[in-house]
Amino acid sequence: MTGERVRIALVLPDLLGTYGDRGNAIVLAQRLRWRGIGSQLVTVLSSDDAVPEGCDLYLIGGGEDVAQVAAVRFLRRGAGLTRAVQHGVPVLGICGGLQVLGTSFVTGDGQRHEGMGLVDASTEPGRGRAIGEVTTQATLGGVGMLTGFENHLGRTALGPGSHALGRVVRGTGNGHDQAEGAVNGHVICTYMHGPVLARNPKLADLLLEWAIGEPLAPLPDPPELKALRTERTRVHVRNRK
Ligand code: GLN
Repeated sequence: MTGERVRIALVLPDLLGTYGDRGNAIVLAQRLRWRGIGSQLVTVLSSDDAVPEGCDLYLIGGGEDVAQVAAVRFLRRGAGLTRAVQHGVPVLGICGGLQVLGTSFVTGDGQRHEGMGLVDASTEPGRGRAIGEVTTQATLGGVGMLTGFENHLGRTALGPGSHALGRVVRGTGNGHDQAEGAVNGHVICTYMHGPVLARNPKLADLLLEWAIGEPLAPLPDPPELKALRTERTRVHVRNRK
């Protein structure tokens, strides 16, 4: 695939960009670059017409309730995202992005909103915000343990059309059935910020392999990742005292 450019769409970072999830796009581009594969970042803003068709991967980050409602309105303007899902193009939705891609979500003010229905997952507010480190055992082969940082009020119940991305080992996750995140075909959703792909390179490579349709040579874990894992462990030990 050398020389070709993988088109990575960063969808609505102006609405769903509160938690630094745009870092996922940077991680994907860098992991391609390390393998000699070019990429192009397609940033889709709420001032644009609609989500473009023809990208190889779509990323939607997390954000506030009000921004989520505006995001659904925008995403409905075009068929870009829906077509991508129908064609098996990978989509990653984080936290508010998960809720937006789901069937419905109830915001903190009690209002129910329809989501995009691209994953079978519905969200209602919990009793308090779930904030902190979350660790799960991924359900997808080869991905292993996933770690991230969660910060959300919503609790998400999965329907029969999707399954969890991981089983919660530590933290809250979806808040139902020890499940974290949602998977439907090549749509992956998670509550994990971090950004999640910086902390979980195997998940990043899985999305890239789906995007380019061929296996990628493994890369060594960046030293920062080891340092981060050690630091997280230390923070937890400190917090427990
Ligand atoms: N507004 C949503 C919630 O609180 C999502 C927050 C987020 O994206 N971190 O549940």
